[in-house]
Amino acid sequence: MNIVIFGPPGAGKGTQSKFIVNRFNLYQLSTGDLLRAEIKNKTKLGSKINSIMNSGELVSDDIVGSLIEKFVSNQSYKNKIIFDGYPRTILQAQNLDNLLKKYQQKVDLVLKLSVSLEVVKKRILERKIKEKREDDNEEILIKRFETYEKSSEPVLSYYFQSNLVKVVNGEASISEINSEIRGLIEAIKGWL
Ligand code: AMP
Repeated sequence: MNIVIFGPPGAGKGTQSKFIVNRFNLYQLSTGDLLRAEIKNKTKLGSKINSIMNSGELVSDDIVGSLIEKFVSNQSYKNKIIFDGYPRTILQAQNLDNLLKKYQQKVDLVLKLSVSLEVVKKRILERKIKEKREDDNEEILIKRFETYEKSSEPVLSYYFQSNLVKVVNGEASISEINSEIRGLIEAIKGWL
């Protein structure tokens, strides 16, 4: 099954993706991680996207789209991907549907982690100490949250139309969220 994990910055998408990867043998495809790797490796693309990422805006649909095809086309990942941080615009959601169709796949579940800006702020400031991400400061975070509300939240209505969305309370404890997600995935696996 292919899963999209959805929510604002700091919602716990990465943490929950890792749990799902271990529990259900899926592969995590984080576009944020792929983009950060480009910056770290000082590629041409990396130099182009650095300032965009540090402004809290989205990188272009074309750039992220080109990064994900490598995964989706790989037979080893067929029907085993958890999309973390992708899609973030309606166009990306449409592109993803088309790309998956090209490789005889589809999105089977969208997990939406609901978290308020207040909780997100607290988490991000804690994460900054651990991961030292340049875009984890309060000013950029507020911009990232606004970008999420403006560009990414509409993606949910796209998936609501196909009845794929399950909303999870992202403010519960990590283990409570783990078990809620486990139940949702097991229920869907049962009828896939
Ligand atoms: P993340 O690690 O998912 O929080 O992403 C960090 C930053 O990478 C975002 O604020 C965007 O600038 C960029 N980014 C990650 N995924 C995408 C995407 N699907 N579309 C556009 N930009 C993205």
